[in-house]
Parts: sequence; C-alpha cells; structure tokens
Amino acid sequence: MKTLVIVESPSKAKTIEKYLGKDYHVISSKGHIRDLPPDELGVDIEASFEPKFTLMRGKEKVVQQIKEEARNKPVLLASDMDREGEAIAWHLAQILSLSDQETNRVLFSEITEKAIKAAIKRPLRINRSKVEAQFARRILDRLVGYQISPFLWKVIQVKSLSAGRVQSVALRFICDLEEKILTFVPEEYWKFKARFLCEKMQGELETALVSVDGVSLEKQPIRNVQDAMKIEEEILKSSFAVRSVEEKVINRKPPAPFITSTLQQEASNRLGFSVSRTMKVAQELYEGLETKDGPLAFITYMRTDSNRISEEALEAAKLYITEHFGESHSKTQRYGKNKANTQDAHEAIRPTYPDVDPQKAEKMLSADQAKLYRLIWSRFMASQMIPAVYRQTKIKIEDIEQGCYTFEAEGARCVEEGYEKVYPPTSKEKDLSVVPVAGTPASLSHFEKAQNFTTPPARFTEASLVKKLEKEGIGRPSTYASIIHTLLERHYAYREQKSLVPTFLGMIVNHFMSDFFPKIIQAKFTASMEENLDKVEEGEENWKEAIQRFYSDFEPTLLKLKEKTLTKSLNWLFSTNLPCKENEKHTLILKMGRFGPYLRCEACDKNYSISEKAKIIFRQNQAEIYGETVLENSKEVVAIGRACPKCGGDLVERQGRYGKFIACSNYPKCKYTENVDEKVAAKCPKCGADVVRKKSKRGRTFFACKNNAYNGGTCDFFSWYEPTEEKCPQCGQTMVLKKGRSGEESIVCESCARTTRIAKKTK
Ligand SMILES: [Zn+2]
Ligand SMILES: [Zn+2]
Ligand SMILES: [Zn+2]
Ligand SMILES: [Zn+2]
Repeated sequence: MKTLVIVESPSKAKTIEKYLGKDYHVISSKGHIRDLPPDELGVDIEASFEPKFTLMRGKEKVVQQIKEEARNKPVLLASDMDREGEAIAWHLAQILSLSDQETNRVLFSEITEKAIKAAIKRPLRINRSKVEAQFARRILDRLVGYQISPFLWKVIQVKSLSAGRVQSVALRFICDLEEKILTFVPEEYWKFKARFLCEKMQGELETALVSVDGVSLEKQPIRNVQDAMKIEEEILKSSFAVRSVEEKVINRKPPAPFITSTLQQEASNRLGFSVSRTMKVAQELYEGLETKDGPLAFITYMRTDSNRISEEALEAAKLYITEHFGESHSKTQRYGKNKANTQDAHEAIRPTYPDVDPQKAEKMLSADQAKLYRLIWSRFMASQMIPAVYRQTKIKIEDIEQGCYTFEAEGARCVEEGYEKVYPPTSKEKDLSVVPVAGTPASLSHFEKAQNFTTPPARFTEASLVKKLEKEGIGRPSTYASIIHTLLERHYAYREQKSLVPTFLGMIVNHFMSDFFPKIIQAKFTASMEENLDKVEEGEENWKEAIQRFYSDFEPTLLKLKEKTLTKSLNWLFSTNLPCKENEKHTLILKMGRFGPYLRCEACDKNYSISEKAKIIFRQNQAEIYGETVLENSKEVVAIGRACPKCGGDLVERQGRYGKFIACSNYPKCKYTENVDEKVAAKCPKCGADVVRKKSKRGRTFFACKNNAYNGGTCDFFSWYEPTEEKCPQCGQTMVLKKGRSGEESIVCESCARTTRIAKKTK
C-alpha cells in the first residue's frame, strides 16, 4: 500500500514523488486550507480566545481530494518548515482525524533526494508549540484588524481602510521619518580640499582638511563664508610638511551566510530587487526546476532566521574552495546561536549543491533566478573562506609653523583578496600603494573651498525598512515581505524610485493610530509581543496567556473609544495652514468625508480635494499640509443611462476624491451611490462579454460578468480571482490570477492546478 505525502505547493509534489519512488504518492494542499472566517471575528474572546477555524473559500475541492486520497492510507504531512507550515500540517491532521500522538510530520530544509529520504525515515509529531505560536499571531492580528477597522471607518470614513498590528508600526517608522524630512532645517558648513606634491610620490596627493587648531571639523564645522575665507587666506600663506604616515593591517572577516532579512537587503542593494521579487525568485530556486538530468532544487528553504550550515554543506564548500582557489583559501566557519544544538532543523539560505557554481547554474535558470543564485552561492562560499587583508594607510600633512591646519589622506591596498574573490565589496577604497616619508616637505599645489548644506535623512528603501524592522525586533522571516506589500496595497505608502513614501491617507491613518491606539504602534510593545510568540514556539509560554496579556492592554483603549463614538459622533477635524483660493483670509479645515479626507472652506461653502502624495504634519488640532489642493467642481457629471433604483432619477458618474463613483442626480435628496465597476483585461470565459471587478458587502473583491442578472443579463460567470486571457495548456480552462503569501502573483488553473508563476506586474 502506498503512503500519502502531503506538501504545500504543487510544483514540489512532482519532484518529491520522483525522489521517493513507487511506494509513495505525493499531493499538495495548495497552501492553507483553513483559516478564521472572513465575515466575522472568529475568535471567542470570552472562551479564552478560542479560534473558530473554517474551511477557506475555494478549498472545498482540494480538501475533498485529500480526504479521498488519504482513505486507508498512512499519511505523512510535509508542509513547509516554518510556523505557517506547521499550522497547515495541524489543520490537515484535523480534517483527516489523525491522532496528535502519531509521528507523521516530515521536515526538510532542502528538496534533495538525500534530505527527503532521510526526513521520511524519521517523521516527528506535529510540534504543538509551533502551531500555537502561529495561532496566537493569527488571532492577535485578527483582534487588532477587525476591532480597530470599524473605528477607522467611522472616523476617517473610508470603508476600504484597515489597520494591522505589525504594519501599523512599519507605517509609523515611515511617517515619523517623513515628518523629520519635512521639518528638516539645512545647516551651512564648509569643506576644504587640497592637493600636495610630496617627495618620492608620483603625481599629487589628494587630501581634505580634517581639523583646525586640533579641533575636528566634524565636531565644530565652519559655518560661514567669513570664517572659510580666513582659513583659506592663512592656508595659502603657509608651508607644509608630512606629519605622519600610519600603516595598519586590517583583516576583514567574511559575512555570515544569508538569512531571510539579509538576503532581502543584499538583493535590494546589489541587484535592485524588491523584497517580494526576491522572495518569489527564492521560492522558485527552493522548489526547483526540471532539468535534463531530472528535477533540481537550487537552494535551501528561504524563510529562516538561522545561519547554521549543515556539516555536509561545510564539507562540500571546503572541497569546492580547495579545488578552485587552493586549500589555503578555505576556512571552515560554523555559524548560529546554538552551534551544538542539532535539534535546530533550520539552516541558512545556501546552495543545495555547492559544486553547482553560478556558471553551471546559469544555463538552467532564468535571468532573475541566475542573479539571485549567484548572490546566494557567493555569499555562502565567502562564509567558508579566509578573511580579506588590507593595508590601510593614513597620511597627515600639517603647516610647519604652528601645526594648526591638519589635512588627511586615507587609502587602503588589498594584500590578500581572500573571500572577496567570490564576494567583492560594493565600494572600492582609494589605492595608496606609494606613500611619502614623515618629516619631508609637502608643497601645496591646489586648494579649494566649497559651501555645503546638511541634507535631510534619506527615506526608507525596502531594504533599509527590513533592516529597521529586524533591528527593532519586529516581524519575522515570513512577514517582512507581506508587511511592505500590505502598506503598498492599501495605498498607505508608494514607491518613488527605490524609496518608500507615505501617502496623505497613510499619514492620516498613522495619526489616527497614534491618537487612539498609541500603544499598538510602539515599536517596543510590538517587539515584546514578537518575543512572546517566540517563547510560545519554544514551549516557554502559554499561547492563550500571551494573547490575554496583549488584550488586557488593548481592550480598555477599545472600550474608551467605543464610548466616545457612541455618545457623540467623533468629529475629527483640524484647522490647517492653507488659505482658501477664493478668499485668502479664510483658512481651510481638514475634514473626513465619505470618500476620505478633504479640505473645506466653511465661509465659501467650497470643498477641495488633496493630492494623494501630499504630506501632513499634525500639531494638536492644527495640521500643516504640504502639497497640491484642487477645488472640487461638483457640476462635472456624466449621465450613465441607467435609472436610480431608489428614486428613479438619472444615475450620473462623479469624480470623487478617490476615483470615480456613481451617484443619483437627485443628490442631496437621494443619497444613492454605487461603485464604478472596473473592467479587467480578460473577457468572460462563458459568454465573451466584459468582466468587472466588484466588491462584496464584506469588502472582498470578486469578479463577475458584466452581462449578469444584476445588469439585466443572463450570464452567471463569477470568480473570487481575476480571470486572465490565458488558457490552461493542460485542460483549456481560463486561468486566474492569485496572490501568494508574500505578495507574489501567479497564474493558476483552478480546475487542474497546473501553475504558471509570473513576475509581479509593475504598477
Ligand atoms: Zn473661502
Ligand atoms: Zn435616487
Ligand atoms: Zn459572461
Ligand atoms: Zn487546467
């Protein structure tokens, strides 16, 4: 009898089945199967936060298949090795009524024949603590999201808004920084450069003035042109000599192999990849590809915060380095917190077969895959090589008479490339291979001074935001990508080149959070919550107690706000720095309306809309707004040729602050409105008419044929996922666009599960 093995994704199933042979049948759960219900809280707060898990929409078929396949067969659960994977295994065990005493959980961090076979031989029990850590995170996120959002709707009045536990902190980082940038006052400072001719040296030596009278310019900058001119005058009158030449040998140790956060940062810095692109490509490399020699997985599991390396991989790296760079270049290095702890199944992100070098791999991979593989491979090899050795030189030149003006030149020369042979640094230092002798004269050949101004702090890039989140202890390997994705998707932030910039709405939501839920957006508070979740995973803390502790903090705030909004409608408005365009003496006020924040002049009875990219700083009841405002022209309406279902008047299309909408022409007598349906590119697979994107009452997006009953038609096409123009090459059905865990998009056939992954569309 065959053993049934259940994995998370279909593309892995085939490979694993091939490795395991005829005694095993491998199928996939296609990700999560059960979750909290979308249309209710789904957490029984009274019954110590008991979650109510229900089958996810669209998963009925998959679950039915799994149940049928599992009948009378031994079952092994081989979902991914992170917390989410453990929870998926638990849910599978539940629907298959497997005992929690059974050893049916299979864990592997790489999809190689050896690793898979070894894992199958020693199945474990489902790790209950890990599952509970995942439950706790899910429940906390749900409590915050579902309980804060109604207030957001009430106060800011945009129904699509929502607040998340962890991304609210990330949004705060971005908004705080934006405020610093907006209020930044540049300061003047002067820079002085000089070139000297020295004995024994070819050409000129480039230097910079670093101190005056022994006080460093960094500590006490020259702030005005008068002082700068005085310095210039004196320097031009002086004669100089080489004061000192210092040489130091410096060892640069190789960096540790990648974990999720460092991979995301380096792929962004070195390859210009967004965090979600990195995770999508890494997943492809992990799941592997069909090559002419059979299936091949290129890297180990990409969601990890351990940089441990298996003994075998250490050995393979040593072999490769010895063969290609000589034994002298190999230096075996073990990483990780508990070097002796073999329980830790997690590993660094590394090549599964270190001898498959980037040149060999390139032929089998797409351009993106090849780039990321090269980065991962090089970083791993580098971690097993000797340090790079530099000879660092610092030359000081001073005026002979008083030793008042000190110029410095710094440089370094590489004497041993070491690991940098495979992982070169991103910036090169100035090469100073020939140096002057201390005490010999130096003649000034060129001098220049330049006025400078201090610049505001740089905005976050995806890479630096991940770094910040990691440093503050917020988020975990599996959440960095989704945090950024959520901020962008909710229009709380947008990309400007590589920077993440808050939108006007984002800054307002952030102010709402700091006004009403200050604790939720405290970095420390969220970090301690993450620590508690880690403790739950380690079995050191009860998960329900962890939630309770959070909730006793959260609930009073919630109740207070509930009271406030019950007694009187919370009128959240601010006077601003902006004058009315009709009359300069009027000041505009910021109000929240049905379609979000807008500006209003009460005296003129005029409304203004604000550009999405405008910025705002709140000071108590006063708001400073930077950005475009546009007087709203309420006369510009287009009849759409349909009658109002409420009063029979003409329906018209209006331009709102957040796009077009349909309203009754009898407004304000009749307040009927509806959303304008947005057409998608694909046509209806059933009748060929247009397909429109719609929102359900619960706010979930769905897709329906324009020729449906609601519009007087007869077609019943409906889908939770956006249909595409692609047909499944296996069964001919229309394929749909799905979003994965880390925001990556893929085109999927829902009827036969043949998946084609695609790059995320650039907006
Ligand atoms: Zn006015
Ligand atoms: Zn009407
Ligand atoms: Zn249709
Ligand atoms: Zn198909």
